[in-house]
Amino acid sequence: MANLAPLSSADEPTVAALIAARPHLSMHAFDGLVLEGVPLAHIADTLGTPVWVYGAGTMRARLAALKSALAGIAEVHYAVKANDHLAVLKIMAQGGAGADVVSGGELLRARKAGIAADHIVFSGVGKTRDELALALREGIFQINAESGEELAMISAVATSIGRTARVALRINPDVDAGTHAKITTGKAENKFGIQYADAAALYAHAATLPGIEPVGIALHIGSQILTTAPYRAAFARAAELIRTLRAMGQTVTRMDCGGGIGIGYADEPGASPAALAGAIRAAFGAMDLQLMVEPGRWLVGPAGLLLASVVLTKGDERFVVIDAAMNDLIRPAMYDAWHGIVPLAAGNAVGATTLVDVVGPICESSDTFAKARALPRLPAGARVAILDAGAYGAVMSSTYNARPQPAIAMVDGDRWTVIRQRQTLEDLWAGETVPDFL
Ligand SMILES: *Cc1c(COP(=O)(O)O)cnc(C)c1O
Repeated sequence: MANLAPLSSADEPTVAALIAARPHLSMHAFDGLVLEGVPLAHIADTLGTPVWVYGAGTMRARLAALKSALAGIAEVHYAVKANDHLAVLKIMAQGGAGADVVSGGELLRARKAGIAADHIVFSGVGKTRDELALALREGIFQINAESGEELAMISAVATSIGRTARVALRINPDVDAGTHAKITTGKAENKFGIQYADAAALYAHAATLPGIEPVGIALHIGSQILTTAPYRAAFARAAELIRTLRAMGQTVTRMDCGGGIGIGYADEPGASPAALAGAIRAAFGAMDLQLMVEPGRWLVGPAGLLLASVVLTKGDERFVVIDAAMNDLIRPAMYDAWHGIVPLAAGNAVGATTLVDVVGPICESSDTFAKARALPRLPAGARVAILDAGAYGAVMSSTYNARPQPAIAMVDGDRWTVIRQRQTLEDLWAGETVPDFL
């Protein structure tokens, strides 16, 4: 179920099909795999591997497509945690997106990239007092509160610094988003949101708290959602709650419909923004609400690649060992995620395929990017692109096994530049001290 991974390699898309389904990618006889207008081999030659590459034009086009599907219906707040690089945030700012943040660090990143405070929503189950104070001083658009305990904290912080917090209650609608268990957030057993049955009373209570102005309802039921059915179910519950609240005399002016719009990692179709727009309009269109969504993955996932080189093959070429690893891209290890793998050189992308395991060098069996994947022969030195790594890629990476973080390059049409230097080995221990008593 995770990303609807194909059951066997026979069902998996070929290299040619993966490229054909991605308008930002093309394969050329001499230049090899090209992102927008830049041959990726050129970036790998210049910066070495592993290296991340983000397509600015691709991100811009996806934001424009989403905004156009939602025009006149809902505002877009980009979920910063999917990819928090300042250059990515600047693309979102320039394209007219606000931000959904889940920490003080993300809030400051969004501000630094030029996203106005009054386009920022702050979500998360464990915002600290310091983070709440920061959000209130910045004057952000909305705080999504996830518990009665948090409402009390927000009230205390807001009154202590003389501010009023505009608060939406994040409800847990208890619907199954039909996605991987680790990225499901809208079921009753998940830690997120306020239990539906408690929400109306808590909203009324919030209205009595000093420093709090309840403005609406929020929900976010999970990530990588590919159909509208879970959204429709969650929206129906939220609409019913809003009607109840209004009947109680409460003021409800905003509805935050969450993120989670899925993308196609293999050959499954990605979720349709138009269908989501239809579901939002059907549930809330006649309710006179300010509506918003907070997608992350859909906007940036397809626009990022992780380039790697084959270090060696072993076991009669059954294992292809590459120089990228689970510390760089953890999604396959953590969520059983399926990512397309495409050779950079045209010559490596054709020819008879065999079933190989593409693995990294880390001392964990979960350090595996693909199992029994049909790929053309990839000798040592061949380079590959791991596709759809723009969301929950670099942001989730670590330096496990003392592996420095790769450089990041950004392509925009036929231009490209480095947007993060590769870490040096010395950077790895730069903040460490060895105590005198040793
Ligand atoms: C993670 C998250 C999102 C974004 O999820 P995507 O699947 O990347 O769209 C949106 N809202 C909240 C509250 C989140 O935690």
